[in-house]
Amino acid sequence: MTSPSPHSNSPSPPRFPVVVVGAGPAGLTVGNILRAAGVDCLVLETESREFIERRPRAGVIEEWAVRGLERRGLAGNLLERAERHSECEFRFDGHGYRFAYTELTGRHHWVYPQPLLVTDLVREYADVRGGEIRFGVRDVRLHDLDSDRPAVSYTDPDSGERRLVHCDFVAGCDGARGASRAALPDRARISRHDYGIGWLALLAEAPPSADRVLFGMHPRGFAGHMPRSAEMTRYYLQCPPGDDPDDWSDDRVWDELQQRLRAADRPPLTRGRLLEKRVLDMHNYVVEPMVFGRLFLAGDAAHLVAPIAAKGMNLALNDAFLLGDGLVAYLTKGDPTGLDGYSAACLRRVWDYQEFSEWLSGIYHGTSSGDPHRAGTTLARLRRVFTSPVASAAFAEQYLGTATAY
Ligand SMILES: Cc1cc2nc3c(=O)[nH]c(=O)nc-3n(C[C@H](O)[C@H](O)[C@H](O)COP(=O)(O)OP(=O)(O)OC[C@H]3O[C@@H](n4cnc5c(N)ncnc54)[C@H](O)[C@@H]3O)c2cc1C
Repeated sequence: MTSPSPHSNSPSPPRFPVVVVGAGPAGLTVGNILRAAGVDCLVLETESREFIERRPRAGVIEEWAVRGLERRGLAGNLLERAERHSECEFRFDGHGYRFAYTELTGRHHWVYPQPLLVTDLVREYADVRGGEIRFGVRDVRLHDLDSDRPAVSYTDPDSGERRLVHCDFVAGCDGARGASRAALPDRARISRHDYGIGWLALLAEAPPSADRVLFGMHPRGFAGHMPRSAEMTRYYLQCPPGDDPDDWSDDRVWDELQQRLRAADRPPLTRGRLLEKRVLDMHNYVVEPMVFGRLFLAGDAAHLVAPIAAKGMNLALNDAFLLGDGLVAYLTKGDPTGLDGYSAACLRRVWDYQEFSEWLSGIYHGTSSGDPHRAGTTLARLRRVFTSPVASAAFAEQYLGTATAY
């Protein structure tokens, strides 16, 4: 819950138009948009710069998001270095079935690891646009969010002293377990969906085994192959929720991946050292609305979508574009339209992506459900994507997030 701001020892605590809590893709994009318009802001981040520049997570960015970054001068390295993908592949019944989405839509998926994007965004914000940022802060708290003088306090990592910062707006971009979610008032409506399954998320120091994303639907469970770079590949293995990653030796992982992604007409997987092994219990949540007084939530702080459809970072960027633009319009021209419509505009795409993730989860996990009826309908759904032009077009639109309106 939010609390009244504590008294500060300093005669006049610093004041920024916007305090951004969290330096992930959402917070750094908001910060960059503000700085480009000459609006001062302060970004607060609990981790170190080195840590956030290395934290492995997402890799797939939809084309509309790339263009949104490009329009804001934030895609220089991405456009130079990212790989453009034009198809994915489903593997089931021992065969591979390519789905060429670019042929259908003219749009791509871009593969650019999240740590590279975060590195670009921090550099642009702090080193090029001169934005203020504090790393390693502790015990961040939000105050007076229902007033027009909200504040944020935190413990300075060097001195150990509490600092208080006044502002006009707080951008809550601190992910699923941050101070913003902890500050939500009782009137926040939080809906949640648990998939009841786990995914073992793996990062392999191994070149991709195909030049496209692979989805393996196998009676033993789902397996995924996501190229990240010429040397790195992310893999996923469906497992029981709460499974212990230590029970998954490297040999067990590779044998299981090989079985679940096997296709008669495709080469075997290229093995390598496993750098990350962790079990994700798959769930989604949505916080509604995304605005509480002067607190504007963005990204995972407002909604989580399990990595099933690779949508989370894309939604975080969509929020950040709308929030950054809305704050700039209000703070430089007094135009409240963007901020007034912010929550509703974000939530339309959020719910669409939530629904698609649940639909896709049905396909990924149906054949291993142990229920022959569900396995049968799953295969029927899959076949429809490959045989019906209407179903193919609908799948491509949702997979790439290209609907003309949300
Ligand atoms: C294994 C995995 C694979 C994924 N793959 C994809 C994919 O391919 N495509 C996709 O679109 N999405 C993917 N996602 C989801 C994506 O990583 C997230 O949705 C994205 O990171 C959300 O960005 P964000 O800025 O909202 O939050 P975050 O990236 O979580 O950033 C929040 C920041 O706030 C900081 N913070 C936390 N608490 C505080 C606090 N109290 N005060 C200050 N700072 C704080 C954190 O350290 C962090 O730096 C994946 C996620 C995982 C786990």
